[in-house]
Amino acid sequence: MSAIDDLPPLREVIAAHNLYAKKSLGQNFLLDLNLTAKIARLAGDLRDCDVLEVGPGPGGLTRGLLAEGARRVLAIEKDSRYMAALAEISAAFPGRLKVLNADALDLDPAEHLTAPIRIVANLPYNVGTELLVRWLSPPVWPPFWISLTLMFQKEVALRIVAKPGGKAYGRLAILAQWRTQARIVMDLPPEAFSPPPSVHSAAVHMQALPRPLFPADAKVLTRLVATAFNQRRKMLRAALKGFAPDMEDRISAAGLNPTDRAEQVPIEGFCALAREVSAV
Ligand code: SAM
Repeated sequence: MSAIDDLPPLREVIAAHNLYAKKSLGQNFLLDLNLTAKIARLAGDLRDCDVLEVGPGPGGLTRGLLAEGARRVLAIEKDSRYMAALAEISAAFPGRLKVLNADALDLDPAEHLTAPIRIVANLPYNVGTELLVRWLSPPVWPPFWISLTLMFQKEVALRIVAKPGGKAYGRLAILAQWRTQARIVMDLPPEAFSPPPSVHSAAVHMQALPRPLFPADAKVLTRLVATAFNQRRKMLRAALKGFAPDMEDRISAAGLNPTDRAEQVPIEGFCALAREVSAV
């Protein structure tokens, strides 16, 4: 029998510790261990990797990550009610699970981990996008992680993998696809969770590219894209007016049409424009 078989079923753990779900912390749990093992496998080969998991809750995905061979798992959970249940998992996998009772927004996980690092999480909906944007916007590239495998509301997942020309395409798509290979690897209906959320979910796998797809200054590109999509229904020349001197000329010099709207511009076009702006 493996260590995971010695642990009680998650529903028993939840009942024993009276772990009712708190909506304010985005608590929708995955209790099917076949499913959590599948998500762990979608993250890639975990055997020589440290894994960061944000929001382990009662530990369904944590068990999957350890059973699939993660070298070490660092699990950051804000809700202290889950510490006892997580300590039971730690005991079953000696030296391989470290749990921090903290807000993931408040600490630097890289300090606690050794490369290569994968991030795998069923993210709390309230902080999921904020954490993703942080992981995608480090001061230097490549980042401290080699891949992100993250569960989101389906609508957010579609925004991450969106291509130009539609409503879903925007800041998140550009941020993700500029420096990672991003794809949806699993769709999950509300019934897969306990309690079921009101929307469908999807897991996105993002593999960090060794270098960005096209050259551009990350800060300029981020500001440019945020400004362009802030007024996404306006033409580029209006949405970006005043962004830099002679902006309309720079838009043309980048090979873009000043009358296009932001959602028509591919990542390559925004990178070309960021280079024109940086060349002041
Ligand atoms: N990983 C578990 C699973 O798949 O069953 C739980 C996922 S649940 C969607 C999100 C978890 O994130 C909850 O356990 C919640 O308490 C935790 N959480 C919410 N906000 C957090 C934050 N800022 N930092 C760390 N954990 C947080």
